[in-house]
Amino acid sequence: MSDTIESVKCLIIGSGPAGYTAAIYAARANMAPVLYQGEQPGGQLTTTNDVENFPGYPDGITGPEMMIQLQKQAERFGTDVRHGWITKVDFSGPAHKVWVNGEKEIHADTIIISTGASAKYLGLPSEQKYLQLGGGVSACAVCDGFFYRNQETVIVGAGDSACEEAHYLSKLCKKVTMLVRRDEFRASKIMAQRVKNTDNIEILYNTETEEVLGDGQLVTGVRVKNNITGDTHEIPATGFFVAIGHKPNTDIFKDYLDLDETGYIINAKPGTSKTNIEGVFVSGDAADHVYRQAITAAGTGCMAALDAERYLAAKDSTFEVSTPTYN
Ligand code: NDP
Repeated sequence: MSDTIESVKCLIIGSGPAGYTAAIYAARANMAPVLYQGEQPGGQLTTTNDVENFPGYPDGITGPEMMIQLQKQAERFGTDVRHGWITKVDFSGPAHKVWVNGEKEIHADTIIISTGASAKYLGLPSEQKYLQLGGGVSACAVCDGFFYRNQETVIVGAGDSACEEAHYLSKLCKKVTMLVRRDEFRASKIMAQRVKNTDNIEILYNTETEEVLGDGQLVTGVRVKNNITGDTHEIPATGFFVAIGHKPNTDIFKDYLDLDETGYIINAKPGTSKTNIEGVFVSGDAADHVYRQAITAAGTGCMAALDAERYLAAKDSTFEVSTPTYN
């Protein structure tokens, strides 16, 4: 542990659209934010090819390019963007303490958590290969479904997300094959019924993915296995969607913050970014299992910075609200 403790007004943890938007607002409000990028600078969007649904980009933009632009915008107003991983927190006292890479200790007046969530994947080498290549594996139909217009796709999962995403894909794709590993859905009856009633969705029960097939660059199909009969067969497809749940990146906060049973941070006051600890705010997918979009993450990042600014102003009468100091 280092013996010098750094004090900051506003510490932002995470570098997705939520974190950078919080940083833009916090920097412009004179809060001198320090932002730690985490293990995957730029967050989940860096694994997306083209982003076509974020307002303001009529021609679309790649996920990585958008994150570079958001970082530049945050830095333009004075955000101190740093590499580093928050390994431990202590929110038990008046000072909010965090440790970076298990060493450096920081005390922050306000903390904005923007650590996001990670989509779960099956973990098959072939799935990971085409995911890394951007060759047809995705965990977000709303983000990527458009690229498979009039094509055939496969989706894995049987929960509400899988049903919602399969239905979304069915409106774009020629055919959607849904792989359900048991003989029933986990999803609510109404959601399951909706996919069952959709003509171009074929549901294969008791069916698991053996391998994502491809030509070395792009997905061309999926080999599946019936886990009752042992039979295997190949399904032609250009897109392979995985909808088996998300895991919010909130483990380090669990001793201090109220989390739901999946680990999402619960807003202490609905409609705000407040958590159960004063001065600690949350934005983006770490608290959102419903919308999970870049634009909603950015919106809640803005809310968190405004809530943090008002919290600081109420605590410290010398803190001037919204007085930008950038050049
Ligand atoms: P869930 O955990 O509810 O469902 C995950 C699904 O993926 C299950 O059907 C599970 O199968 C399947 N699965 C898990 N691992 C594998 C695997 N290795 N291979 C194949 N299948 C696998 O996650 P969701 O993201 O669907 O939902 C999360 C929460 O969000 C839920 O509470 C849901 O109700 C809610 N939600 C609500 C929506 C709405 O109301 N509009 C929309 C989306 C989500 P099995 O059933 O066999 O375990």
